[in-house]
Amino acid sequence: MQIIRSIKKCKKIIAGLKKSSQTTGIVTTMGYLHKGHLSLVKAAKQDCDKVFMTIFVNPAQFGPGEDFKKYPRNPEGDAAIAENAGVDYIFAPETGEIYRKDSSTFVEVSGLSGPMCGRKRPGHFRGVATIVLKLFNIIPADRAYFGEKDYQQLAIIKKMVSDLDLDIKIIQCPTIREKDGLALSSRNKYLSKEERKNAPIIYRTLKQSKKMIEDGEKDFKKIVMQATRIIKQNPYVKKLDYFDIRNAEILEELNTRIGNEDILIAAAAWFGETRLIDNIVIKEKK
Ligand code: AMP
Repeated sequence: MQIIRSIKKCKKIIAGLKKSSQTTGIVTTMGYLHKGHLSLVKAAKQDCDKVFMTIFVNPAQFGPGEDFKKYPRNPEGDAAIAENAGVDYIFAPETGEIYRKDSSTFVEVSGLSGPMCGRKRPGHFRGVATIVLKLFNIIPADRAYFGEKDYQQLAIIKKMVSDLDLDIKIIQCPTIREKDGLALSSRNKYLSKEERKNAPIIYRTLKQSKKMIEDGEKDFKKIVMQATRIIKQNPYVKKLDYFDIRNAEILEELNTRIGNEDILIAAAAWFGETRLIDNIVIKEKK
């Protein structure tokens, strides 16, 4: 496995791979790797001859007062884990390599970036879309692998790829969870023992809501109210940013099931100083 720091070197390597007709996949991460990240690598390895992983804690997607400085980092550990998982190239640039002092171009995916995390974290998705487009330009792989865990991000990236006619196929991969249902996340490390014990309440409530819809409940406001009450009652939940039921494609809020659309149920809640997100999708009834 090779660790690359420079954009120039990365571009040279992928150009060489393309010349020899090798298929390439990219997994973008902020590091502090866990099994969720590795599931993306596994999927990429199944499809592609060579797999790139990017590790970059992107300052542009953190708001003022968010956890950019304390975001967990473990470069040596990550390199060992990635190599073991079969990653061929890690691109781990310094911030200055990615954002030159005079950078003034940003990518804004309007509409989809508006609700949920976009409303609670202004500028977050602009930072995400900008870095992902930059990484796709630096490493123009055939396929890119993203987790459903960050559902809104995935929807935004898909829209950006379609709107900008990018030549990259987005592959979406299921959320990997702990045994008790908590979605794996680098941020889980922040949780105290008690917070960790209580955190699966988000997934439990998402599942209950899904069941209510599947059992025929038409009043989504009622489902949201009930879920909100359950989550807020938990003494370890400091704040519930949102609990929403939306159309899974366009992310428009749903008060009831309209047609046969896929339905997204998504939540973001604070356990102490740690903000966790999760979601569940109800697939269209065929
Ligand atoms: P991050 O390092 O948190 O920015 O995540 C990098 C990629 O890993 C994104 O595509 C995430 O959606 C994906 N990812 C993070 N956690 C999980 C998980 N628990 N299951 C599946 N994919 C995940």
